[in-house]
Amino acid sequence: MQQLTDPFGRSINYLRLSVTDRCDLRCFYCMPEGFKDFEVPEHWLTPDEIERLVGVMADMGLSHVRITGGEPLVRKGIEDIVGRVASMPGIRDVSLSTNATRMNKMAETLRAAGANRINVSLDTLDPERFKSITKGKVDKVLDGLAAAKAAGFDPIKINAVVMKGLNEYDVEDLLDYCIDNGFTLRMIETMPMGETGRDAIDHYVSLQDVKKRLKAKYDLIPAVNSVTGAGPARYLQVAGTDTMVGFITPMSEHFCETCNRVRLGCDGTMYMCLGQEESFSFRPLLRKGIPDDELKEALMHAIALKPERHEFTEKPEKVIRFMSMTGG
Ligand code: SAM
Ligand code: SF4
Repeated sequence: MQQLTDPFGRSINYLRLSVTDRCDLRCFYCMPEGFKDFEVPEHWLTPDEIERLVGVMADMGLSHVRITGGEPLVRKGIEDIVGRVASMPGIRDVSLSTNATRMNKMAETLRAAGANRINVSLDTLDPERFKSITKGKVDKVLDGLAAAKAAGFDPIKINAVVMKGLNEYDVEDLLDYCIDNGFTLRMIETMPMGETGRDAIDHYVSLQDVKKRLKAKYDLIPAVNSVTGAGPARYLQVAGTDTMVGFITPMSEHFCETCNRVRLGCDGTMYMCLGQEESFSFRPLLRKGIPDDELKEALMHAIALKPERHEFTEKPEKVIRFMSMTGG
């Protein structure tokens, strides 16, 4: 069987599948203010096209799919896409990255469709600061998280981009909230994705410093119960609780050598690396109806383009896409 292995010997078994580049929030580090240049619906891969491509990839060793965006819950019929991916032979794990604003209404349906786990973006619990970062209401997110917990998503991971002068000192409140709810907290360094991300880089905080601060307040021990999977976060555990604290440090300590993933934009463009330009467009091939063996060849060709590592630190100007386009 042909396997998806890149030129550096890394097996690609994880796909981040973006189902839309639209979003009901406007996190300043992700989407430029007033941005309207969204992909036209005719270019979105249809559920059938998604099912076909994921099916062929599953045949080549893909086992994990994370559905993301933009905000995946704003795509109409998202439960259908989740259901199709989750029932694909070979796919062992389907998760969602969401801002949770619509989870209150959709948690049960998505859980029933086969999504097991969610990652939710939440940078602060403070309503004013949440509004200034995202233009949205934090209560909706907290209601969504409560609904997701009730629906049985497990684990639930909170992703916080930590930014100097904005939410740097909200991390302790977020951690207490996670301890109370049995959630995992993961902190992310801002990345220079497109213009918006480069603005955010002015707020860059090294998570090594945040870790030192947290260690002074909490008893953080090496993680025993691993919620980690093959992802990029490095975890500590709050002693006496199930709560994990993860640090995702693409800038201060990159983790490219263990990268197992590619990203598919909602228009069918596959991006080989978050921080590099290499990509391959699958939409024309899918719409031409090429047979499976040719689609497999195209996938091998695409994976052969995967670069060894990102260059965020050396060349922050390099990536002109922003996160909502790539599928964060
Ligand atoms: N809308 C969903 C959400 O917010 O979780 C999924 C898509 S969002 C693009 C995925 C993740 O990318 C979020 O956790 C967000 O915080 C992160 N992100 C977006 N722009 C970023 C940047 N410039 N640097 C670091 N993380 C970023
Ligand atoms: Fe939307 Fe997620 Fe980007 Fe925020 S980070 S604007 S919630 S896609």
